[in-house]
Amino acid sequence: MGKIKTIGVLTSGGDAPGMNAAIRAVTRSAIHSGLTVYGIKRGYQGMIDNDMEILNSESVSGIIQRGGTMLQTARCKAFRTYEGREVAYNNLKAREIDGVVVIGGDGSFSGASDMVQEFDIPFIGIPGTIDNDLYGTDCTIGYDTCLNTVIEAVDKIRDTATSHNRIFFVEVMGREAGFVAINSGIASGAEVIMIPEEPNQMEKAREFLSERARKNKSSIILVAEGLEDGSALQIAEKLTPEFPQFDIRVSILGHIQRGGAPSARDRILASRMGVAAVDALLDNQSAAMIGIVNDEIMYVPLNKSVKLHKKISRDLIDLAEGICTFGPGRK
Ligand code: ADP
Repeated sequence: MGKIKTIGVLTSGGDAPGMNAAIRAVTRSAIHSGLTVYGIKRGYQGMIDNDMEILNSESVSGIIQRGGTMLQTARCKAFRTYEGREVAYNNLKAREIDGVVVIGGDGSFSGASDMVQEFDIPFIGIPGTIDNDLYGTDCTIGYDTCLNTVIEAVDKIRDTATSHNRIFFVEVMGREAGFVAINSGIASGAEVIMIPEEPNQMEKAREFLSERARKNKSSIILVAEGLEDGSALQIAEKLTPEFPQFDIRVSILGHIQRGGAPSARDRILASRMGVAAVDALLDNQSAAMIGIVNDEIMYVPLNKSVKLHKKISRDLIDLAEGICTFGPGRK
């Protein structure tokens, strides 16, 4: 591999607050090292459509505090095919782009991994997803902001739940992972937390409601999406006829969890990871994801970050157990 002179940066897959801070850090540190930087629009779609433009220092000013992504993001079917990736590679080569930073989740990293195997161009990944479900880093960009959004919403729901003596099932995002649910549940004092990593979650909610029947108190049941028992709505529909004495409501927080100004933590995380990604390209690394573990930068092979699953620690599940009425791991 020769010396890198021109790089591309893109955001791909689901958006997350803090992606702008990462774009800014990649751009500024690359310019500082004498590189030319192209911003690639709408994820891999822009790579295939040749939709890219040179970014300078001013192009990324005033964005660190903004949610979303200035480059926009997309899901791109064509990139899943070899032919699509070949078009993308030829577009990169035509602009003499000799290294790429992809800010995204595991799907985006699968695509990056394919590119590196098929063509002679290095790709470095920066983990950007509110779900925090990527192996090889303690936190992903956007996760902390999402947690803060969720607890603010749950605090508000609790006010009305208490006033009306209602039971609320609150559904949060996370795909197949319960990181958002368990940590926002702990931070908002939820009575029950239901996560896909633990068995018998529906049974736990049922037991909780049976116990509550005697106390008749308002409660928050925090439900991760991706439970095998179904969505919060389906779970509430199944349980409501069994507990007619309760006023049961459902609140699905939805896309507010993806937006908003990134927290200080996410801005700093994104800035550190952005600089580390450019350093990695300059060190001739490829097919690596930038992680931060115990406050130290790590370079994790992309295929490892895609294949391995980050687990919620047993200590955290036990902790939730100890302080919630019905934590996720209750036996
Ligand atoms: P995320 O990166 O947030 O997990 P997706 O799973 O939607 O989001 O992936 C983003 C994009 O990455 C997809 O639209 C597609 O272009 C590309 N991609 C995902 N999986 C693969 C794959 N197995 N091979 C090639 N490209 C992929």
